[in-house]
Amino acid sequence: MINLLGLNQKALEEFFITLGEKSFRAQQILKWIHFNRVRDFALMTNLSKTLREKLSEIAEIRPPEIKTQNTSADGTHKWVLQLADGNCIEAVFIPEKTRGTLCVSSQVGCVLNCDFCSTGKQGFSRNLTTDEIIGQVWIARQEHTVTNVVMMGMGEPLLNFDNVVAAMDIMLDDHAYGLSKRRVTLSTAGVIPMMQQLRTVSDVALAVSLHAPNDELRDKLVPLNKKYPLKELIAACKEYFKDEPRRYVTMEYVMLDGINDTPTHAYELIKLLEGVKSKVNLIPFNPFPFTVYKRSDDATITRFREILMGAGINAITRKTRGDAIDAACGQLVGQVKDRTRRNERHLKKAGVNSHMTLGGEA
Ligand code: SAH
Repeated sequence: MINLLGLNQKALEEFFITLGEKSFRAQQILKWIHFNRVRDFALMTNLSKTLREKLSEIAEIRPPEIKTQNTSADGTHKWVLQLADGNCIEAVFIPEKTRGTLCVSSQVGCVLNCDFCSTGKQGFSRNLTTDEIIGQVWIARQEHTVTNVVMMGMGEPLLNFDNVVAAMDIMLDDHAYGLSKRRVTLSTAGVIPMMQQLRTVSDVALAVSLHAPNDELRDKLVPLNKKYPLKELIAACKEYFKDEPRRYVTMEYVMLDGINDTPTHAYELIKLLEGVKSKVNLIPFNPFPFTVYKRSDDATITRFREILMGAGINAITRKTRGDAIDAACGQLVGQVKDRTRRNERHLKKAGVNSHMTLGGEA
């Protein structure tokens, strides 16, 4: 059975041509699957009866299974989705006054191992297929109006390039979700060669996880920096929208208490971003069990932001949402995995005696 959920227009056209059908069937079926969310071929009335019968023999439209779901008081809706092989991923919908943002995962786990990210601490299992990526949008759209998608769930989207690009094609496609290119954002820790490739095949918005204004600190927080250091990353960011003067790269900067949040860091960041068309998103750190980091306090975040704004940088503080249901950044699916051994290692590293924290005896 071929799962048509994961085929973009081009792949569907090829699929229909191999069936001896006209390529415009691709648009029709995209609309049935994604716009109308119909899974039963028998209901697809603008296809011939023979084609409908043929499709039900060889194809299916199968989204991931909803394992659990939760909605927090602020309306944030989190799904744990189970994939055919038993792996779990998460998607989070965040409603705001004028938009609805869906945070989508691209991999099961992640290889990058950023020190402040709980996904990184779970190791890497595999890339998601295109249907598993777009399936998250399909499921969210059953209940919500999704106006924005951010590839900011689990995983590094640029290390699953082809599947992520195909899924984003479907998000942008007028016959499917019809989202604007400015409302679909890919977030990367800075896989430079893939950033260069992305701008040639897709015109989605780009966010870069900066988190530190110098290599020494960034090497620790985002180990990928050792391979692709700041000087090259900044050059790649300058390059990214060079043909589109009105577009900006979003720089993500997680606020870690006492680590990267002092005025000195802010001034260093201003210097680093000189000449880069960018805006800065300050993300209050979302703590997770056994992390050594703490969230910067509000006054520190405000001061940091004011220093940036004083230098003419457009900086905003991202609101924390969904805390109560562990739907915040970097916390996805932590609970459903056995991370005991890893946790113990973290505790050792942090100099914490594990039974004190875990056993509650202290
Ligand atoms: N691999 C991609 C997507 C990661 S998740 C990337 O690195 O950009 C999206 C954002 O959440 C990234 O900026 C990531 O660094 C940040 N993040 C991860 N864990 C976090 C945490 N515990 N608190 C706040 N932000 C976190």
